[in-house]
Amino acid sequence: MPDSAPDGDRLLSVDEHLATILDGVGSIDPIELTLLDAQGLLLAEDVSADFPLPGFDNSAMDGYAVRAIDTRDATRDHPVRLQVVGDIAAGATSRSGMGPGLAMRIMTGAPMPAGADSVIPVEDTDGGVARVAIHRPVRTGECLRRAGEDLQAGAPALGAGAALGPQQIGLLAAIGRERVLVRPRPRVVVLSTGSELVEVGHRPSFGEVIDANSYMLSAAAKDAGADTYRVGIVADDHTTLLDTLENQLLRADVLITSGGVSMGAYDVVKQALTELGTVQFTRVAMQPGKPQGFGHIGDKVPIFCLPGNPVSSLVSFEAFVRPAIRKLLGKRNLFRATVEAVALEAVESPRGVRQYRRGVLHRESTGGYSVSFMGGPGSHLLASLALSNCLVVLDEDTTSVAAGSTVTVMPLLLSNR
Ligand code: AMP
Ligand code: MG
Repeated sequence: MPDSAPDGDRLLSVDEHLATILDGVGSIDPIELTLLDAQGLLLAEDVSADFPLPGFDNSAMDGYAVRAIDTRDATRDHPVRLQVVGDIAAGATSRSGMGPGLAMRIMTGAPMPAGADSVIPVEDTDGGVARVAIHRPVRTGECLRRAGEDLQAGAPALGAGAALGPQQIGLLAAIGRERVLVRPRPRVVVLSTGSELVEVGHRPSFGEVIDANSYMLSAAAKDAGADTYRVGIVADDHTTLLDTLENQLLRADVLITSGGVSMGAYDVVKQALTELGTVQFTRVAMQPGKPQGFGHIGDKVPIFCLPGNPVSSLVSFEAFVRPAIRKLLGKRNLFRATVEAVALEAVESPRGVRQYRRGVLHRESTGGYSVSFMGGPGSHLLASLALSNCLVVLDEDTTSVAAGSTVTVMPLLLSNR
């Protein structure tokens, strides 16, 4: 038996177990992805512009390119009339020019002709084609976008660590980057253990249970930002489990199993992985989710062995796996935001244990939050889990919550991936 004795007397706190996990999760080498595949990820390089933005002086309006000085005396009653010597559309790739006392009709985004220094918007003219009447003086540089005023050639555009949302992806495209180096999504392999389990789509016979966890945990991992591979069911058999894990290691940055980590005679995950000596099975002072396994297999691939009861496995995921996935993504903020809410009912909670109750969080018209508890503490209660939208976190010191007192709530908001 390894010296980190499984099931020692002492329970680890949630924070101690989490610290071990975050220590045991490194980072994944950056990869190059096309812009849209990089959405939601963090940039892993400093990006600068190869050419200026805008690339050339161009018009900010539909109007007429002129020399400001030629419009000095223009008024609506006494317009200045200039001869229009050409048209410049957006997309014109030849350089044009004009002499003093002349104008060129120009469209938004079209390159400025040499010899003009400003644009009079079409609204301030008679819109003429051969000649144009200008109704007011133009300031030098008016309605003109200068080359490089957004970004100079060689200037930094985005730094390593920038999160790539729509704005950043737009800029990267504008400066001509088709691919960028990013922190990749961790590849998370999810499998369920239990000889009672059957695949969804199969009507369970007496004694059989549909595998819900591999779906729930795959969805949770995807929501946390991972690419997920749902392997599905593995029977409670030593060799099958080890062979399956061995096969899956090839494509895994993280492995998650559910089931088989308690004290039962067929708790094969705990038995088989304890023998490897690189995965520790511990008891954590939390409810639900007391039995937990964490360690590494193969070439240092982190493995989470979560308890099989569906509520326990989801709570364990929230407490331990989600922060680890976010660390692998390079995120600075590993944890879900919490809010304070007024408890609408009284509940009891065991001392020394961090309890995660399912709840329904309401936003009050006054702006604050209130929360009602959903379902009992039983960790098999999937239907009430599905009706909840938050976890109420009752810390180790809390033994009872009075109706009307304040509790800490972790809303289970869907990510925007
Ligand atoms: P275990 O942790 O393997 O002892 O399982 C605890 C309880 O959770 C048992 O009632 C299992 O049938 C149930 N369970 C385990 N794995 C799953 C799963 N993948 N989907 C649904 N229920 C499960
Ligand atoms: Mg089991």
